[in-house]
Amino acid sequence: MRRAIIAANWKMQKTAAEAVAFAEKLAPLIRDVEHVDVVVAPPYTALAALAAALSADRIEVAAQNVHPEASGAYTGEISLEMLREAGCSRVIVGHSERRAQFGETSAFVAQKVCAAQAAGLEPIVCVGEVLAEREAGQTEAVIGRQLEESLEGASPDLVIAYEPVWAIGTGRTATPDTAQEVHAFIRKRLGLRFGPRPAEAIRIQYGGSVKPENAADLLACPDIDGALVGGASLDPESFSAIIRSCPAGPESPR
Ligand code: PEP
Repeated sequence: MRRAIIAANWKMQKTAAEAVAFAEKLAPLIRDVEHVDVVVAPPYTALAALAAALSADRIEVAAQNVHPEASGAYTGEISLEMLREAGCSRVIVGHSERRAQFGETSAFVAQKVCAAQAAGLEPIVCVGEVLAEREAGQTEAVIGRQLEESLEGASPDLVIAYEPVWAIGTGRTATPDTAQEVHAFIRKRLGLRFGPRPAEAIRIQYGGSVKPENAADLLACPDIDGALVGGASLDPESFSAIIRSCPAGPESPR
């Protein structure tokens, strides 16, 4: 039985003032929703203001990235202690935009995962294939390798986000069947790494053009435990509609 987890990835969008205005609109829209963990990952400059604005609510704040070292000569980077001070409880690592545009390898992602867990921040670890890999029938090989390398040394205290790269920001969503197939494969691989019981407890989010219109069908799949949402998370109405699409409370079997 896994609690649903819906996370917003705002990427490089919204100022601190805009983030606070968003929080003021979102919180009342989902105040009665108790069966879902809700997370918002704004840009670094909005973290502290957003965490303060949400302090009375159950909505968590996450960072979109982190450096694994505690401190040092890493110009432009940010540490786990800094994120915790700003009010973060989670951190997204290995997003495909970081892998593709900033050259992040799975080995580097694994360092971030381990450092975040050691610091008490739960990582949301992203994996996903590009279109050419899917069309070449390599999806499982690619995801299997990313999981193997990105989780080296990690404990099972994490969330996985399956984000097919061809579905991110494109309006093209994986069908529920396609997503479920990969999620089941991911859970099987998590079982090989952590053992079947811990693997059953790990939440696996789907990400890639999730919106109010397609969320319910995706979230109804047995191995899809939530969503990582980009574009549709920027508007409180559409983000709250996605949160409300989560099917069942913890008392109901998923
Ligand atoms: C993302 O960036 O993690 C994402 C899933 O974006 P979008 O929902 O816009 O496809």
